[in-house]
Amino acid sequence: MKITERCYVIYGLTTLPPWMVNSGFIVGDEKTLVVDCGGNYLSAKTIYGYAKAVKPDNELAAINTEPHFDHIGGNCFFKEMEVDIYGHNAINRPENIIDEVKIEYSKTIMSEARKEKNEEDLVFYKTKVVNPNIGISSEIEIDLGGITAVIFSTPGHTKMNLSVFVKNEKVLYCGDTIVTDYIPNLEDGGVDDWKEWLLSLEKIENLSPEIIVSGHGEVMAGDKINAEINRMKSILNLAIENNQPPT
Ligand SMILES: [Zn+2]
Repeated sequence: MKITERCYVIYGLTTLPPWMVNSGFIVGDEKTLVVDCGGNYLSAKTIYGYAKAVKPDNELAAINTEPHFDHIGGNCFFKEMEVDIYGHNAINRPENIIDEVKIEYSKTIMSEARKEKNEEDLVFYKTKVVNPNIGISSEIEIDLGGITAVIFSTPGHTKMNLSVFVKNEKVLYCGDTIVTDYIPNLEDGGVDDWKEWLLSLEKIENLSPEIIVSGHGEVMAGDKINAEINRMKSILNLAIENNQPPT
């Protein structure tokens, strides 16, 4: 879906139930930057198809906003297409995490007959672990031609979370730093990480984005932005107070 002149979102890509993950892309005059690659090979093919359809001659690049598999599972397809993938320089997922991901998926298959046939293999058809090939350790700008994407660190959900801000259009892609309507996943960190997460939310507020594309859920605009940031803050503050995540 087109959200501004140059920014797009792709909703509801497959991941581990009950979550669906978003992706998006920013179209410059020469380059298109894909933000998050979906959770599997086939999701990435969908993302690639949309991104290429908008401006077929553009060179593609991709970025992972975090190391969780729902955001990087499609990297294998982008690698096959020889697309450079940016990501936090500490992202280094081992090859065998795909086995754990499949086991988790298999638990959600209700039918014993389907389970026996290992139908999770179809969801993760051709899916392999591929880490980003361009590591980022500090804020960078990527010139896409006529528009610039600023990539900066927003730790909290994981230590490696990145966000992408498109200044000219006031659009922010924030990954799972904000998840619209979902209960955020705080389980990868502790109190110190959650405190950092609050600072990341402040960083986002200071940019005054007009539209936010979150890793999961509906795109935010207008009053929804403040409402969701405040909802995230209360969940984080409660977790800090109780020293335990909400889930
Ligand atoms: Zn996610």
